Amino acid sequence: MPPESPKVMLVGAGPGSADLLTIRALRAIEQAEALLYDALVGEEILELAPRRCLRIRTGKRAGGASMKQGEINALMARLALKGLKVVRLKGGDPSVFGRSGEERDYLEARGVQVEIVPGVTAASAAAAQFAFPLTHRGEARRLTFATARIEDGALVEEGWSGCADPQTTLAIYMGRDSAGPIAARLIAEGRGGATPAVAIENAGRAEARLIQTTLEGLPAALAEASLCGPVVMLIGEAVSRARSSSGLGQAEDVHAKVAIR
Ligand code: SAH
Repeated sequence: MPPESPKVMLVGAGPGSADLLTIRALRAIEQAEALLYDALVGEEILELAPRRCLRIRTGKRAGGASMKQGEINALMARLALKGLKVVRLKGGDPSVFGRSGEERDYLEARGVQVEIVPGVTAASAAAAQFAFPLTHRGEARRLTFATARIEDGALVEEGWSGCADPQTTLAIYMGRDSAGPIAARLIAEGRGGATPAVAIENAGRAEARLIQTTLEGLPAALAEASLCGPVVMLIGEAVSRARSSSGLGQAEDVHAKVAIR
């Protein structure tokens, strides 16, 4: 048989629970010979890889050391060019704040094929678990995935004016520690301070927590809850429908703590 051409699969691991993997992602993991995984990928999912598979942790959780993107790129290419089946496993969906574009460009430029397998992104997992929609007829016609870069306590980027649109549901990733400047900017752009807002820690996992508040209440609610897992924030009229039970199909399996304010 001719040798397979070098290939890397960029695979979405979903929000954490193995049963939220796609079957395609599961097959890729089960056949992996080298697995490069991010910090958000849980043990339950890593255990699905073959015992002989090389496991390389590339990501950090708050403060720990993590590999530089350039090192990750070079390592993926090297392992694939050696003939290994390489799986780059990322939390959620690789195309949402997952650097799939950069990694694809790097690998393809070196003659390595790339296949992307989608995953359940944090916002979708949160909406399902707490039974609220991200879009809602007549109320939420647009959905924006956003993150913010903060310098000296203020948002760096311009371009937040579109997020003030009352018919947009805003999903904010990597924003747990910058809820203050984000809320202030949105309110300054014209989004009402009373707009419903939720923050979900560990969405899609048994230990998920839901915080229900308003846009102006979000920074204080987050500070008070002192969350330490990954947090996605959702802002918009549609999120007022969030409720703590239902979602995963087996509500009794969800030990969600709810703080309603
Ligand atoms: N590709 C991922 C996002 C990576 S960026 C996805 O599609 O979900 C990392 C950020 O994603 C975290 O800071 C947090 O905001 C969010 N996130 C990822 N997993 C999460 C989870 N299980 N619960 C809540 N937020 C999560």
